[in-house]
Amino acid sequence: MGIKQSAKDIAKEMFYRLGICGPLLRISCICKYPAFFILAYHRTCPSGNGRPYMATPIDIFEQHIKFIKDNFKIMPMTEGLKNIYEKKEKEIYVSVNLDDGYMDNYLYAYHVLKKYKVPATIFLTTDYIGKNPVFWWDRVFNATSYNEHATDRINAALRTEEESEIQRRIKEMEDKASLLKKAKSNLMLGWEEIRKMKEDGIDFGSHTKTHRNLCLLSDEEVAEELGGSKKVLEENLGEEVRGFSYPFGIYDERIKNLAKRAGFGYARAGFKGFNHKNADRFALASICAGPALRTSFLADRISLSAFKTH
Ligand SMILES: [Zn+2]
Repeated sequence: MGIKQSAKDIAKEMFYRLGICGPLLRISCICKYPAFFILAYHRTCPSGNGRPYMATPIDIFEQHIKFIKDNFKIMPMTEGLKNIYEKKEKEIYVSVNLDDGYMDNYLYAYHVLKKYKVPATIFLTTDYIGKNPVFWWDRVFNATSYNEHATDRINAALRTEEESEIQRRIKEMEDKASLLKKAKSNLMLGWEEIRKMKEDGIDFGSHTKTHRNLCLLSDEEVAEELGGSKKVLEENLGEEVRGFSYPFGIYDERIKNLAKRAGFGYARAGFKGFNHKNADRFALASICAGPALRTSFLADRISLSAFKTH
């Protein structure tokens, strides 16, 4: 990190600590009203060292939630969407999303969401509910000796490859790295935790059955990933499921149409930005919030996203 960069970070942190970061952020976001932004997280973990890949320590997650609640209107996805399409008020709406369905969402994030009475949507990868999978991105994290930036870079390249090629390349990396330990398996949410959170206002959407890049699959396979996961969720939750989040945020026109055909009401993509009244409800922009290891960094990501309007 250069001197210029660290000076900038110190200034951002000072603004945050002085409590003027929120009002400044609101001013910088007033380019177009009403606006709706979606904060996307994956995992949460206890504070301290040894963070799993993509995990936000729970003390930082709590700071984020408090900061967002103090400065914007937090609401469920369907309400946020309704507001940008139907309302004219000068307001910024926010939704909190957690992807994949890790057990740590229940162990840590849930308590913070409950404490601040914040609704959130968890997008579940339904084949892994109640299971202990080792995801390929965790194997990359392990093979890079827990280097998150290197893992991000490798993963961004791998996610557009066929499954067999991903496995081949990771095996090669693992052999080269002569690893001492295997990648850890992940504990995923079970139906008991999902139902408990649902009683407290947490909403659930689909993130497919197996978390593959949908653009690489046939129409039939995509229909099964979408329809199959929707059906399992609806049978177990006892209500219609309208929300969908594309694995890795990747989609194209074909996938968008298949998501509509599967009966979803909206789909969240991976590109950065705010959503406005012209937003495509099957290609919603979001802001990757975790792990922004300081709340001032999160504020920075939000203000940069405000200028990318959709
Ligand atoms: Zn995901």
